[in-house]
Amino acid sequence: MAIAKKIETILEKSSWIRKMFEEGARLKALHGADKVYDFSLGNPNLQPPEAFQNALEEAVKLQGPGAHGYMPNVGYPHVREAVAAYLTKEQGVTLSADEIVMTCGAAGALNVIFKTLLDPGDEVVVPSPYFVEYNMYVDNHGGVLKTVETNPDFTLNIDALAAAITPQTKVLLLNSPNNPTGQVYSKESLVALGEMLEAKSAEMGRTIFLLSDEPYRKIVFDGTVVPSILEVYKESIVATSYSKDISVPGQRIGFIAVNQASENRDSVMAGLALCNRILGFVNAPALMQHVLANLQGLSVDVSVYDRKRKLFCDGLKECGYEFVTPPGAFYLFPRTPIKDDVAFVRALQEEEQILAVPGSGFGGPGHFRIAYCVEDQTIINAMPGFARVMKKFK
Ligand code: PLP
Repeated sequence: MAIAKKIETILEKSSWIRKMFEEGARLKALHGADKVYDFSLGNPNLQPPEAFQNALEEAVKLQGPGAHGYMPNVGYPHVREAVAAYLTKEQGVTLSADEIVMTCGAAGALNVIFKTLLDPGDEVVVPSPYFVEYNMYVDNHGGVLKTVETNPDFTLNIDALAAAITPQTKVLLLNSPNNPTGQVYSKESLVALGEMLEAKSAEMGRTIFLLSDEPYRKIVFDGTVVPSILEVYKESIVATSYSKDISVPGQRIGFIAVNQASENRDSVMAGLALCNRILGFVNAPALMQHVLANLQGLSVDVSVYDRKRKLFCDGLKECGYEFVTPPGAFYLFPRTPIKDDVAFVRALQEEEQILAVPGSGFGGPGHFRIAYCVEDQTIINAMPGFARVMKKFK
């Protein structure tokens, strides 16, 4: 092949996932889309809130100098001010526009951060199961992703994380609410993590950054609150997006917030501005920045996801599946009744036209991931199939 060996390897390694998606498309063509129960993608099915549509209609009327031009690489000052004002309330710490970088989604934010922080061979420690794209994002910038198992209920194992830290560790990466488990890390565990990172930074003689990827922050249930990492550790950075909060993942808009208390704030901000530019993003989309300037804190109606979560959890429980009830995001990560999660997911697909993703794709073998951002009826119609496959393997 003429393409880079690294890319060839990634393509080969992920070919089984691609094959599953191709098989899903084939099943849809064969049986009709309504007879295939697709829980494989985290693509929100709720419409963006009306306020987003209204703001979009206003934003397209904007004219005059700069309406569609380049802006500072970190984004429009008035938008960053609005984001900082909202975050100050949401996260309980003071932030100003000087700590905000508007980005092309959370994925763009993470790439910009890793480009800014990582030297070749630097390690990024992440609790697993984890969002598998992290492997690529870290490798893009010469880093090495190191996974550390969570507790059986997917909460943080601070001792295991501490044991994984070496003189090469530069970043500890969290994702809460988590994809794929839906788990939310508690305030107590974050405080303990902050203390551990402080001690380890002193021991290793280098700053270890705590990075929190939180695109699902607003999708939480039963009164769950997502604690802020900015409160518990000085050298911390938040990466996030509006993709899931308001159902606009195709618009590629998000931001980075750097802790105002960080001793490295100025150099990190200068690096982020440069990297947003030289990674080719240049700046986050101008139109979306205008739209979101006055929509801080907006979210879709989370009670709709809660209803879907309940439908799925009740249904799967009745079928005999075991899982941790997720307090956030729109994913379930049940145990597979057999050890081989790929074989189990294949059986769901081939025998019942149910599409899910094997847990081993997220560093969580023996599980499967369900994305329940789908129509209620799809969940209801899929349940007899889930029951039959469980019966077969039990
Ligand atoms: N981080 C996690 C945990 C995700 O699940 C996703 C998308 O599914 C992203 C980052 C990327 O988000 P965005 O589409 O805003 O770039």
